[in-house]
Amino acid sequence: MTADDTVRLRGHHLLCLLTYKGLGYSPEFVAGMTATAGRLVAGATVEIVEGPDDICEPLCRSEQNPHCHETTVPERDRRALSLVTSLLGRRLAHGDRFVFDDQLRTRLRAAYRDGAFEQACTLCEWQSLCREIAAGGYQDTLFRSSGEDI
Ligand code: SF4
Repeated sequence: MTADDTVRLRGHHLLCLLTYKGLGYSPEFVAGMTATAGRLVAGATVEIVEGPDDICEPLCRSEQNPHCHETTVPERDRRALSLVTSLLGRRLAHGDRFVFDDQLRTRLRAAYRDGAFEQACTLCEWQSLCREIAAGGYQDTLFRSSGEDI
C-alpha cells in the first residue's frame, strides 16, 4: 500500500467487511475482499462509490452474470449508506472519503450486532451467516488490526 492508497467501496461493502472471514461468492471475490481488508488495516482511505467498486468491479468485467447487476444490490447500497448515516449522524454520500479506522469499525460492529443494519442485509443471501458471525463476537474475521480484541 502507498501512503495515498484509496479503496473505492460501494455502500453495502462497508458492512460486508465487518463480518468477512474469508467466505464469498467465488475465489476471485474472496481474493478481492481479503486484499481490501488488508489495505484498510494498513490505513488506506475509503472513497464511497456508486456501483461496482475495487472488490466487485474485476468480477463484473469477467463474469457473464455478475450478482452486482441484480436490482437488489444498488438498493442494498442505498440502505447501507442511509443506515450508517443515521448511526454516525453525518451524511455519507458517493465521493466521500474517510479512514475506516479501529474506532469506526468497533462502532459499526457493535451496531451491526445489535441489528442496526438489518434493513440492508435482509436483501442478501448471506444474512444468517453474518448475523451468526456478529453474535459470536466477530471471531476470525479478517478486517482487524493485529492483536485487536473485538
Ligand atoms: S448480510 Fe450480506 S450485505 Fe449484509 S454484511 Fe453480510 S454479506 Fe454484506
